[in-house]
Amino acid sequence: MGETGPKRWGQLRPCFGLCDEGEAQSPINIPAEAQPIEIPIEIRYEAHALRIENNGHSVQVIPDPGSSVIFEGRPFALKQIHFHAHSEHTIAGQPSAMEAHLVHQDAEGQLLVLGVLVEEGQSHPTLRRIFSLMPSVPGERVERQEIVDPSAILPSARRGWMYTGSLTTPPCSEEVRWVLFSEPIEASREKIAAFRALYPHNCRPTQPLNGRSINGGLIPATDTPRDDGVMS
Ligand SMILES: [Zn+2]
Repeated sequence: MGETGPKRWGQLRPCFGLCDEGEAQSPINIPAEAQPIEIPIEIRYEAHALRIENNGHSVQVIPDPGSSVIFEGRPFALKQIHFHAHSEHTIAGQPSAMEAHLVHQDAEGQLLVLGVLVEEGQSHPTLRRIFSLMPSVPGERVERQEIVDPSAILPSARRGWMYTGSLTTPPCSEEVRWVLFSEPIEASREKIAAFRALYPHNCRPTQPLNGRSINGGLIPATDTPRDDGVMS
């Protein structure tokens, strides 16, 4: 992956050390035997004018303040939505075409990320608009009067897996609460290709569980992440 690829992050800057040394990192592989459960979440998103930024690592949608979720009884504000290709999380070792990350933060600074897998299939009206308008130059921002509803990016079933991990980009900060929904959403082959043309491989390889539990249940017996050197 060259000079600044995921395997080098720990050496780039001292504050990125967790990327190398952290024991509770993301993404992870969800083993086949980990059954999805009902996620204790209430979505309180509000539609907002479309605002898309190319931040040099991904394309992110910036909502207006006011969208939030109640997760495990606590409010978390929606900060931004960005995308990876392929997916960062894998299920039984298999990546999806893409993954959306809806990043939230509570009043104490605790982060909660909702991960939504994206498979190739039907055109998705909201993703179609985002990937049609996304700016191609890092630092560029596009604003439109048209309205998007962040809840359109979530699957209809609120089932999935929960665990505690990290940011998947430097500084790889830990203590991030993760929800990965088990039901994927779909986007057209054309729009997935449009995102990949900008960011052909902005996904971090899966990281070892190191004894962490998924859904608060038993620690999976098989913890075999993909080879760190292979970003498939
Ligand atoms: Zn992400």
